Amino acid sequence: MIIVLKSGASDAQVEDVCHRITAMGYSPHTIRGALRTVIGAVGDDRGKDALRSLESLECVESVTPILKPFKLASREVRDEPTQIKVGDVTIGGRSLVVMAGPCSVESRPQLLEAAEKVKAAGAHVLRGGAFKPRTSPYAFQGLEDDGLKLLAEARRETGLPVVTEVMEPEKVDIVAEHADILQVGARNVQNFPLLRRVGDAGKPVLLKRGMATTIQEWLLSAEYVLARGNPNVILCERGIRTFEASTRFTLDLNAVPTVKQLSHLPILVDPSHGTGHWQYVEAMAMAGIAAGADGLIIEVHPRPEEALSDGPQSLKPERFKALMQRVRRVAQAMDRDL
Ligand code: PEP
Ligand code: MN
Repeated sequence: MIIVLKSGASDAQVEDVCHRITAMGYSPHTIRGALRTVIGAVGDDRGKDALRSLESLECVESVTPILKPFKLASREVRDEPTQIKVGDVTIGGRSLVVMAGPCSVESRPQLLEAAEKVKAAGAHVLRGGAFKPRTSPYAFQGLEDDGLKLLAEARRETGLPVVTEVMEPEKVDIVAEHADILQVGARNVQNFPLLRRVGDAGKPVLLKRGMATTIQEWLLSAEYVLARGNPNVILCERGIRTFEASTRFTLDLNAVPTVKQLSHLPILVDPSHGTGHWQYVEAMAMAGIAAGADGLIIEVHPRPEEALSDGPQSLKPERFKALMQRVRRVAQAMDRDL
């Protein structure tokens, strides 16, 4: 249910309403907008009639049901776009955010070279996987804890915040110690214990769309994180499975305007996994920004031919630099900065 407070409701009144909501067995999520405060009461649908009685309070304007199955992720609860701050970077504002780096952290020289080069080209966040979800158990699985240490070192060297994937609930604490943003990958988008755990970790979460996940299912996954009291979820469209075999996945750019209409959460586009071929990455990066995305996540490797994962879709640093210049022109056409 959405409890809309009258404009001018005092902090004490907001607290009182939250107390009452908690006493009814719901968890209150307060969203302070420019004009009014709205409280989302989230919990078991069965007690919703009790919540309606809040309408008799002086400070309450209305109590209405949230119609969408996802509640806190919905525009019904919050119409203003969510902006997420990571160091000096704001995700979801007028300025686009570009995250770039290798698919996997492979070695100290590889990561530091990639980090310096993506920074020089204008990237805002460094990506790199330490724990890798590989289709084959015989493929490179990542440097694991040592990879996390290298990411932390690359952040110290470059000042770039770091995003990296976490695959298991038991690893969330150690990943959160080293990274600025926790990535939940496509294969784990419905790993509900993991979603709950990253919801508790106090760090922003980059939630990739599953390759066979509808937009509604994906927003319900975001809801798991939000419902734990972590409002900082960044969505990422990375391609879905279709019958088309020319590309690795089919980048579903329909998701960008659809998510923008349904949700206040920021959304990035991943043209690297979305296409699987470096040759198509620049075109789909530009298309993602033209569709209204808040930024990009792109795989860049100093020597893609030597990459231990996703080399065929990784850009060389100089191609990434050229991509940034072209995307900047699309950003201008979209009234965004880069
Ligand atoms: C990745 O970012 O390297 C990755 C494995 O992505 P996805 O979960 O989208 O496949
Ligand atoms: Mn990858």
